[in-house]
Amino acid sequence: MIRVSAVDKYFGSLHVLSDIDLEIPRGQVVVVLGPSGSGKSTLCRVLNRLEVVSSGSILVDGVPLPEEGRALAELRADVGMVFQQFNLFAHKSIIDNVTLGPVKVRKLGKDEAREEGMRLLRRVGIADQAEKYPAQLSGGQQQRAAIARALAMRPKVMLFDEPTSALDPEMVSEVLEVMADLAEEGMTMLVVSHEMGFARRAAHRVLFMADGEVVEDTTPRRFFEEPESDRAKDFLGKIL
Ligand code: ATP
Ligand code: MG
Repeated sequence: MIRVSAVDKYFGSLHVLSDIDLEIPRGQVVVVLGPSGSGKSTLCRVLNRLEVVSSGSILVDGVPLPEEGRALAELRADVGMVFQQFNLFAHKSIIDNVTLGPVKVRKLGKDEAREEGMRLLRRVGIADQAEKYPAQLSGGQQQRAAIARALAMRPKVMLFDEPTSALDPEMVSEVLEVMADLAEEGMTMLVVSHEMGFARRAAHRVLFMADGEVVEDTTPRRFFEEPESDRAKDFLGKIL
């Protein structure tokens, strides 16, 4: 599904991703952990070309990432992304946020897009919020709207970059719940999150990053119970 080969990314002289090789098969749920500045967000961002790699290659479904235009818009639909800050369009209603992309990029008719949008809002539990504007929703509701918006594009893969870290604690579980359901339904997912409960319950695989490298690539159980590297032990000592 995703194949990353020998990817390096520099910001100026800063080496942010260092020789990353990574394959994510269809249906796999990967949780990415690591200290601040280790390159987790950059890894997400290069996968849908919000950042361009300095060298190496990335294939999605066997196809290299397109550089621009319609093909890039379609790639971004295929590789859905949910950010820490929900990034909804403030001046559009929730249902319009969800239907805009499918109408524009997937060329769905308005009625069909709306029907599917409402189905997705029901699925994430906020159908009753459809006509409201983002600022009128709680953080957890906004994040669920952002997930519905990404799903409306019928993505092949979903990337989540710390989707719960801007939320008040009582709203974290409602978002994790939606993500766990998605995982259970077989969605291919890359999730940057320090939510251990989610990692243990939903992840097939944990990647631990430090200084732009993948230092451990293992199962959640092994990572949390028998981390191998000193850096992972040190990291776990701080967050557990
Ligand atoms: P956090 O846990 O704090 O979100 P992260 O693991 O997601 O950290 P990244 O955001 O990928 O880390 O950043 C990796 C490094 O790249 C950091 O040193 C960061 O300052 C730097 N960086 C990220 N984006 C840019 C940019 N657009 N220009 C310059 N440097 C950047
Ligand atoms: Mg980050």
